[in-house]
Amino acid sequence: MFSCTGYAAEAADKPLAPFSFERRALRPSDVRIEIAYCGVCHSDLHQARNEWKNTVYPCLPGHEIVGKVVEVGPQVTKFKVGQNAAIGCLVDSCRSCASCKEGLEQYCENGFVGTYNGADKQTGENTYGGYSDQIVCDESFVLHLPDNLDLAAAAPLLCAGITTYSPLKRWKVGPGQKVGIVGLGGLGHMGVKLAHAMGAHVVLFTTSPNKVEDAKKLGADEVVISKDKEQMQAHASSFDFILDCVAANHDINEYIWLLKRDATLCQVGAPEDPLAVAVFSLIFSRRNFAGSLIGGIAETQEMLDFCGKHGITSDIELINIQDIEKAYGRMLKSDVKYRFVVDMASLKQAA
Ligand code: NAP
Ligand code: ZN
Ligand code: ZN
Repeated sequence: MFSCTGYAAEAADKPLAPFSFERRALRPSDVRIEIAYCGVCHSDLHQARNEWKNTVYPCLPGHEIVGKVVEVGPQVTKFKVGQNAAIGCLVDSCRSCASCKEGLEQYCENGFVGTYNGADKQTGENTYGGYSDQIVCDESFVLHLPDNLDLAAAAPLLCAGITTYSPLKRWKVGPGQKVGIVGLGGLGHMGVKLAHAMGAHVVLFTTSPNKVEDAKKLGADEVVISKDKEQMQAHASSFDFILDCVAANHDINEYIWLLKRDATLCQVGAPEDPLAVAVFSLIFSRRNFAGSLIGGIAETQEMLDFCGKHGITSDIELINIQDIEKAYGRMLKSDVKYRFVVDMASLKQAA
C-alpha cells in the first residue's frame, strides 16, 4: 500500500480539504504515476457537490491526470519508469462485453470504473482521482503523451479533449461543414480547437460577450451571442452538427432549430436537471438529439496523437490545490479561461 495525500470533499456541503489515504499495492499489470498536473473539470464540481445524486464520500475528484511513471508491475509492457503518462476518466471496465470489445469502454455494459467515484472491480472500494500526489492504474487504461506537448496544458485533453473529439469524429465533422459549439468553457474551447483542426467552419455560441475575441483566436470562424435572438435567427436551419457543452440548464430548442434537415445536436454538457425538448423541432426536418460520453481508451490515444500532430493543447490557468474552491466558484460564474489545471507540487505546501 502507498500512503497518499490529496484534496477531497467529505460531504456535498463541505469544501474540498486535505485528505490522507492509501492506494493499493501494485497488481502485476499496474503502473504507479506521480501526478504532476490535474485539470479541473466541471464534472468534478457536479460530483463533489452531489449534483448527480450518486456521489460516494469522501469524494476525491480529478480525471485529467498527467505525470511520470515511478513504478511498474512485472507484467507491464507499455510503460517504463521515468516516462510521462496520462489517465483520463476511466480506470477499468469488464473488458469482455460487446462495447469493451469494440474499444468503447465508456459504454461498458457491466459498468466502467470511473477514475473517481467508481467501484474497484476487485475490491469494490471507492476510487480516488487526480487531486492527489500519485495514482495506481492498470496499464490498459494509461495513455501515452506526445513529447511535443506542454505537460500541464495537455492535462485537459484527457477529459475535455476526448469528450469533444469523440462526437466530432462520430458525426464525421470535416471540411465543408458548418459546426456549432455551444459554451466556451473547458469542453467548449477544446471543441472549437478540434473542430477547426478537422477543417470545419466553426460557429461558437456564448452567453459571455467578453469571450468573443478569444473564441476567434481559438479557431472560431464566427461567434454568436446566444442571448441575441436576431443573431440566432440568422443561422436558422443551417448547421450540419452542433455540440452542446453547457454545464447549466438552458433552452436546448433554440439550438435544435438551427440544425439542417437530418442534422444532429449532440449533448455533452450534463446539467443537473432534465432539458425540455420541443418535439416539433425534431419532427419537422427529422432532426436528431443525441448524447455522447467521454471516449474509449483507443480513441483517447488517437485524440492525443492528433493533438500532438496539430500542436493542440488547452489554454490553461495554473492554480494551487489550496485554491480549488475559488476555482469552482469562478467556474460557476462562467469565468474560466479556459481550463484550470492544478499544479500538484502545491500539495506539499501547508494548507
Ligand atoms: P465549464 O468549463 O464550466 O464550461 C461551461 C460553459 O457553459 C461556461 O463557460 C459557459 O460558456 C456556459 N454556460 C454556463 N452557464 C450557462 C448558462 N446558464 N446558460 C448557457 N451557457 C452557460 O464546464 P466544462 O468542464 O466544460 O463542462 C461542461 C459540462 O460538460 C459539464 O456539465 C460537465 O459535467 C459535462 N461533461 C460531460 C462529459 C461527457 O462525457 N458527456 C465529460 C466532461 C464534462 P459561455 O460563457 O461561453 O456561455
Ligand atoms: Zn471531465
Ligand atoms: Zn464491458
